[in-house]
Amino acid sequence: MENSRRDFLRRTCALVAGVSVSPFAVNGTTDAETEQAIKYAIIHDETKCIGCNACVEACRETNHVPEGVTRLSIEKTGPYGEYPNQYYHFTRHSCEHCEDAPCVNVCPTGAAYIDKQTGIVSVHADKCVGCQYCLLACPYEARFINPVTKAADKCDFCQKTNLKQGKQPACVE
Ligand code: SF4
Ligand code: SF4
Ligand code: SF4
Repeated sequence: MENSRRDFLRRTCALVAGVSVSPFAVNGTTDAETEQAIKYAIIHDETKCIGCNACVEACRETNHVPEGVTRLSIEKTGPYGEYPNQYYHFTRHSCEHCEDAPCVNVCPTGAAYIDKQTGIVSVHADKCVGCQYCLLACPYEARFINPVTKAADKCDFCQKTNLKQGKQPACVE
């Protein structure tokens, strides 16, 4: 990766990392508009990732994700370059918490929803009928049917676990 891009990413991450689970607000907006502008975000700095999968395991443990399915994966590509200077890329694959979420738009029961306070896209498991429309609608293939709950599942920003306890998402910690 070029140095300028690395530097940009480092600066961006330094700016955003400290507020990765804090609301963003836009200056000069009314209270109602500010509420609409809140959007939680996680940054994955690929220039620092070594593909150790600690985040994947932390997600599984914290959110009781059964074996065989996952809310998060780290995808490895490469090697790039010439021996002995070869390297790999590691990219994060999980829900993107889309602003105009296709999974929410197709859900017939209201089980898939966007939390207005945080912008988190989540699932009411008790309202899910397992039709899988949302799985087909997701362009990132981020959703799955949880084999234990039989409901659609995916990254929910640790909304029901770590965030509830005032902590950072498990993958960030
Ligand atoms: S599950 Fe897919 S469509 Fe829904 S918010 Fe996440 S990335 Fe977007
Ligand atoms: S599987 Fe559940 S969350 Fe997905 S569209 Fe069907 S009812 Fe909605
Ligand atoms: S925010 Fe929570 S649910 Fe989402 S990938 Fe990270 S640990 Fe998993």
